Amino acid sequence: MNLETVSILGSKVARMSMEEVLEWIRMMVEQGKPRHIVTANAEIIYKAYMEKDFHAILGNADLVTADGSGVVLAARFLGAPISERVTGIDLSERIFSLAEEKGWGLYFLGGTQEVVEKAVLNVLSKHTRLRIVGYHHGYYSQEETSEVVANIEGVKPDILLAALGFPKQEEFIQENIKPLQVPISIGVGGTFDILAGTAKRAPFLMRRLGLEWLYRLLCQPSRWQRMLALPKFLIAVLWNKLRRKNSSN
Ligand code: UDP
Repeated sequence: MNLETVSILGSKVARMSMEEVLEWIRMMVEQGKPRHIVTANAEIIYKAYMEKDFHAILGNADLVTADGSGVVLAARFLGAPISERVTGIDLSERIFSLAEEKGWGLYFLGGTQEVVEKAVLNVLSKHTRLRIVGYHHGYYSQEETSEVVANIEGVKPDILLAALGFPKQEEFIQENIKPLQVPISIGVGGTFDILAGTAKRAPFLMRRLGLEWLYRLLCQPSRWQRMLALPKFLIAVLWNKLRRKNSSN
């Protein structure tokens, strides 16, 4: 499969639809080699733009999807449109059906103990044949990390959903991708909170209008500082494009 990407502030984002990402996952699970998927919003790409170490993490990932509407907007502005967002929650929900059909084993890592347990139960109540081979909360100490890794290794999942928030989930996956040998590891942010019912997604219309970020801000005003990354990201994209245009004239 030819992976078409667009470079946004130096990060290569896949120009793939949800169906294409699912097809890629299906092929990679069959191949069995460990792969890392980042579901990237503007905040993640902006951090990679600003910080060398995080930039390397994104560069080493096997697939970076456009999680946020800011990323989709930037791709369009750069003349390489992406047909749709591929968010952590949407991708996870599609994976549940596919994994149920294929018999793949899933591991849930992240959230509080209560959230991860509820997320597992809610998902199993909808996908009764799904194999969730293990789960662990995301509030373990540095010393406990090896135990968590051993736990995942022991149950050999086909897909690991790491919902530790960024950049923790991306760092965890890249530090442990070799020992884990899980075919697909995905950083899915606040997905388990939604699956557990402790957080809600934006209403459909707001999502269609690309305003999920606004809904999040209204629900969690304490995130305002983090969300400044969105305008900073858009300004940086604009600035870089203008600079390139001027230097080519
Ligand atoms: N989380 C975790 N361990 C931590 C910090 C956070 O498991 O040490 C979980 C947290 O409970 C929440 C998710 O990571 O379920 C982060 O959600 P958020 O929506 O903030 O994701 P982000 O936007 O940071 O990717």
